[in-house]
Amino acid sequence: MKTDVIIIGAGPTGLALACQLIRYGIDFVIIDKKETTTPHSKAIGVQARTLEIYEQIGLANKLIEQGAIAAKARMVVGGEVRGEIEFGELGKDMSPYPFVLIVEQGKHETILYDFIKANDKDVSWQTELESFTQDETGVKATVKNANGETETIEAKFLVGCDGAKSPVRHALGLTFEGITFERMFYVADVQIDWNFSHDAGHAFLLKNNLLAFFPMTGDGQWRIVGTFPEEFAKEEGDVLYEEIEVRIKRDTELDLDITKVNWFSTYKVHTRHVNKFSVGRCFLAGDSAHIHTPAGAQGMNTGIQDGYNLAWKIWTVLRGKADAVKILETYNEERLENAKNLLETTDRFFNMAASPDVFLSYFRRYVFPYVAGVAFSIDAVKKFVFPRVSQIGINYRHGSLSENADGNFKVKAGDRMPYFSVEGESIYDRLRQPKFHLLTFFDGNNNPPEISENDFTELMDFHSLPLYPAIAEIFGAKKSFVVFLRPDNYVAFISAQISAARLEKYLTEKLQ
Ligand SMILES: Cc1cc2nc3c(=O)[nH]c(=O)nc-3n(C[C@H](O)[C@H](O)[C@H](O)COP(=O)(O)OP(=O)(O)OC[C@H]3O[C@@H](n4cnc5c(N)ncnc54)[C@H](O)[C@@H]3O)c2cc1C
Repeated sequence: MKTDVIIIGAGPTGLALACQLIRYGIDFVIIDKKETTTPHSKAIGVQARTLEIYEQIGLANKLIEQGAIAAKARMVVGGEVRGEIEFGELGKDMSPYPFVLIVEQGKHETILYDFIKANDKDVSWQTELESFTQDETGVKATVKNANGETETIEAKFLVGCDGAKSPVRHALGLTFEGITFERMFYVADVQIDWNFSHDAGHAFLLKNNLLAFFPMTGDGQWRIVGTFPEEFAKEEGDVLYEEIEVRIKRDTELDLDITKVNWFSTYKVHTRHVNKFSVGRCFLAGDSAHIHTPAGAQGMNTGIQDGYNLAWKIWTVLRGKADAVKILETYNEERLENAKNLLETTDRFFNMAASPDVFLSYFRRYVFPYVAGVAFSIDAVKKFVFPRVSQIGINYRHGSLSENADGNFKVKAGDRMPYFSVEGESIYDRLRQPKFHLLTFFDGNNNPPEISENDFTELMDFHSLPLYPAIAEIFGAKKSFVVFLRPDNYVAFISAQISAARLEKYLTEKLQ
């Protein structure tokens, strides 16, 4: 069997990558040793950036229909509600999706899988990677299929989306350094009879533990996530559900009635990342490359963005337009830096939520619940928090594909294209094509640039828009300017120099 890309693993990362390859018209094979998509709820928090990505392939609304917007959180101390934060519109004017969406991973994976099947592709289930080799021209993977037969798949590239234990990572000889948290985490999807209403998440602010309840679809259905204290010395798999329930009742200080347990799991949390996201023609994405605490609901969303970053780079190489070594190395450069930042943020967030440190513990229980509601209504706080949590603030400003050429714009090369409306429509509606986009904003004093045919014009769309005052304000522009966007809608360059030569300089220096 021959193909362009072989994807190992059909969890959320592999499935989302497959959807992107469909979008770019790239042939692929995707295998997974499991029988089908996960039946479990696992990752429930879907961030705005993921929805922006899905909007381009018509899946954002499907996900929203299956889930619920996380509208507010109540903070509970000693069994009593002490404060409330509204965040259903936390990211208003920053994204078309100004919220966190709660939807079970099982439903999420099904939506991606349905998209793949609707495009005449399928996952080869019950098919396991056994080994692979690579040379300068491609990769050969040996797999065992559902009938127990051994097959060879030849591809130009291989992507290991094969989870935290990643056989691909091991075979590539990459390291996965970091730490394992002493504390055991638990997760339980349950039905509860209690007095707290189902319209909000409930964070129980404890002295030295994490405990949060998230409303799930269905009356009385909740996801509980918590930790055992450090002295709880059991191994994963040795913990009975009854021990979890005792812990929940003790920590909530409530006599709540858990009437049904749909699913529970205990696990040790690691915080680790690879030393490199690629070796030759083989890449890693998702949990195979980075794992961390579930604080902040970042893991699955990050894996989906890894694939989004990689897909267009593979596309330009397969179309013979870009220098393979130069552009594919930027995948490692951009996503490794992001993974390192992510681990720091999630560790910090977890510490704030559960650290036994005396000061943090006091602040968490006796200060935060009383000020949080007001704090989260302040614009500056929203502008600080939302881009970080929603992943819209991830930037590649220091990457080699970003070129801040001239002018003192507020939006820099390497930033995600900001969200705004123009002539009554979201700017993103114009940017759905999986292509490079050259946007020129005119103040009436320039002529459009005359772009002659070059190697890239067939991969590009051109947009001309008036420089409305609101747009000038967002970009910090005083006169006409151009924005050249990569296919993942990150700014490649932004310049007041409106000329074909400016574009050609970028293309030859950065991509070819
Ligand atoms: C309780 C909990 C809550 C979480 N909540 C969130 C959240 O709210 N938001 C968020 O963003 N993240 C969350 N996460 C993290 C999220 O679940 C993971 O980051 C995500 O599942 C990783 O997806 P993945 O596709 O990279 O890996 P996986 O989901 O692990 O998928 C890897 C796949 O590779 C397959 N595979 C492995 N080896 C082979 C092989 N040799 N051959 C073929 N196939 C193979 C496996 O069968 C598997 O299907 C949570 C995690 C947990 C445990």
